[in-house]
Amino acid sequence: MSDKEFAQPDKSLYSPNKKGVLGRALAPVAGFGVTFSTLFRPAVTEQYLPHKPEQKTPPRPRYHGMHRLNRYADGLEKCIGCELCAWACPADAIYVEAASNHPGEQYSPGERYGRVYQINYLRCIFCSYCIQACPTRALTMSTEYEVADQTRESLIYEKQDILVPLAEGMLSTPHPMASGTTDADYYRGNITGPTQDQVDWVKQERPDDPTINTARVVTGAKKEDQH
Ligand code: SF4
Ligand code: SF4
Repeated sequence: MSDKEFAQPDKSLYSPNKKGVLGRALAPVAGFGVTFSTLFRPAVTEQYLPHKPEQKTPPRPRYHGMHRLNRYADGLEKCIGCELCAWACPADAIYVEAASNHPGEQYSPGERYGRVYQINYLRCIFCSYCIQACPTRALTMSTEYEVADQTRESLIYEKQDILVPLAEGMLSTPHPMASGTTDADYYRGNITGPTQDQVDWVKQERPDDPTINTARVVTGAKKEDQH
């Protein structure tokens, strides 16, 4: 194949622009064009004053903030201690130790619950891999972002720091699952609140438990969503 078969590119397309005298004189300051034009625009600095929460800018609704361990509507914990979140974490920031549920001491539906749950916020990069790995939606992320503290120890959050408090109408744990239900009923979202059986159980085991009087009793698990 001879050289004549190829059209040679126009060399002027690849040559540096030839600047005139004025262009060359202004070249050193031309790079500051954006800087100078920004000088005369209004400032967009957002205030961050922890002692004035009304001035804090709320993050976006899907912001990845601090973790939460959630509960079912009857108060049982969603975490089953499976450790999938810990295995998914690329920063090795989660430590879970499971324990068995017993008839007299049940914290979550099914066989096991998360007895120890720690998140090390010195390691966490807020990637959310852990919440994607969680099979029960026990672990989610809030929009809370104030994680700074003075010591290393205080940045290792324990289960009691991230477990959500009982919502209105829930029954405090431990207590049995709603009678006649399986853990699958819980996973399918068929539990809408504590049942009378559960309230009676707590009344017998812990008569002074204040949630006995505030529990919003439902008649039973929703069955229509089951397949
Ligand atoms: S958000 Fe990412 S880094 Fe943080 S605990 Fe979850 S998986 Fe680990
Ligand atoms: S938070 Fe979810 S993934 Fe982690 S141990 Fe509990 S159930 Fe398993």
